Amino acid sequence: MERSASRQSRKKVVAVVGGGLVGALNACFFAKRGFDVELFESREDIRRAKIVKGRSINLALSHRGRQALKHVGLEEKIVAQGIPMHARMIHSLDGKQSPIPYGRKGQYILSVDRANLNKELLTAAETYPNTKMNFDHKLQDWNAETGLMTFVRLDGSKEQVKADLIVGCDGAFSAVRKQFLRRSRFDYSQTYIPHGYMELTMPPINGEFAMKPNYLHIWPRNTFMMIALPNLDKTFTCTLFMPFEDFEKITTGDEVIEFFQKYFPDTIPLIGADTLQRDYFRLPAQAMVSVKCNPYHIGDTCVLMGDAAHAVVPFYGQGMNAGFEDCIVFDEIMDQFNEDFRAVLPEYTRVRVPDDHAIADLAMYNYIEMRAHVNSKWFIFRKYVDNILHFFMPKTIIPLYTMVTFTRTRYHEAVKRWHWQNKVINRGLLLSAVGAVLGGSYLLIKNPPDINKLIVSAEKMWDRLVALRTL
Ligand SMILES: Cc1cc2nc3c(=O)[nH]c(=O)nc-3n(C[C@H](O)[C@H](O)[C@H](O)COP(=O)(O)OP(=O)(O)OC[C@H]3O[C@@H](n4cnc5c(N)ncnc54)[C@H](O)[C@@H]3O)c2cc1C
Repeated sequence: MERSASRQSRKKVVAVVGGGLVGALNACFFAKRGFDVELFESREDIRRAKIVKGRSINLALSHRGRQALKHVGLEEKIVAQGIPMHARMIHSLDGKQSPIPYGRKGQYILSVDRANLNKELLTAAETYPNTKMNFDHKLQDWNAETGLMTFVRLDGSKEQVKADLIVGCDGAFSAVRKQFLRRSRFDYSQTYIPHGYMELTMPPINGEFAMKPNYLHIWPRNTFMMIALPNLDKTFTCTLFMPFEDFEKITTGDEVIEFFQKYFPDTIPLIGADTLQRDYFRLPAQAMVSVKCNPYHIGDTCVLMGDAAHAVVPFYGQGMNAGFEDCIVFDEIMDQFNEDFRAVLPEYTRVRVPDDHAIADLAMYNYIEMRAHVNSKWFIFRKYVDNILHFFMPKTIIPLYTMVTFTRTRYHEAVKRWHWQNKVINRGLLLSAVGAVLGGSYLLIKNPPDINKLIVSAEKMWDRLVALRTL
């Protein structure tokens, strides 16, 4: 049976497909503008579901995501339910912990509960009288020319619905995007990285967090790593990122303990040996995919946002934040073009594609930075140099992480600026090193040390070495 989603209003009907994080937020943005909004979600209503299936338990929310929440009046509420993380806490093999701050004093990212955030967003969308929620509606197919969508229900029944604008927010494996793939001049790429991820829970100890809570804990081990984010119930969710082939090598409980003993010994007493042995085999490791496409729209009838447009690997903590920013960017363009979809949709593609592609690339880059570079002394030194220069020249030198996480600098501009800054700083460091060597040599030539004293010290040195060898 076909029904028109229109409700006799003068406003157009917007169908948001997908009631995940970006879909639920987008429903608020469109409803706020007065459109008749229909949200279609394939799952049951997660606010009533007993078990909520889905990806990561918690997420890092940062500036871009917060700005989007602010637009719909939710920022304060969500921030109050999150846990600030001011720095990465690097755990070395010997158990030593060293913090690397994310930015200036007072700058932090927030650990938020994914399910709770989704619930809050759905509730917020529902408060608009011009929004209708349709759970248990899985988009099966749709027609780009007519805007007619076919949904299947759990009982197998089908429903056809028409809308003026279809907003595809149905995630990395988007059913909306499938229609784009059938069209000419649609660029699409999908890359699975060789690593998978597995979540493990670190319980509280005596009712308190088992580790310092205001940090994103990282155990970088070069080809793999584990991270841990704090939750409000004082647990930590630990996520182990590792090549699938390494996950598969571990087949018994004893091998789990052996592996943790070798690479993450400090976590065994905190997670608990029995829990580790049990939880490691609870679910298989999950895959991570990066999706890029272009354009994001078809005519004036359909647009993709969030993971449906750009699934990124999770290593910059920007997937959701970028998806939330999609909603603000679209909203800003709606203002600019007076809500004329014929102009808004192509402009959205023009503006947003380079930025989303840039964050997809950055996330891939950070995949190596987090598990390997943070172990390098040069990397830590450069981070300090960047931070010091930023302190003295806050407008000229801005660390990449700061631009991405604490500002709304366009992602592709942040990348360009980062390359420029790197060139300038590296040249500056090279010049300083050359200057130091030349200056030192000049001083030595000008004030040559007494050669006899040097010979005596060399003789003493030799005696000491011989003494050492005979010890
Ligand atoms: C391990 C991990 C950690 C992450 N950490 C972070 C982080 O710290 N910070 C961050 O910003 N991002 C993070 N991300 C990325 C973030 O999870 C995603 O970018 C975000 O969930 C995208 O939201 P979305 O609404 O676009 O898609 P989704 O969350 O995938 O939601 C899509 C929705 O569409 C529904 N749906 C699917 N198909 C259909 C259909 N055919 N019909 C109707 N409905 C449908 C789904 O049921 C779902 O509810 C992480 C991702 C992973 C995997």
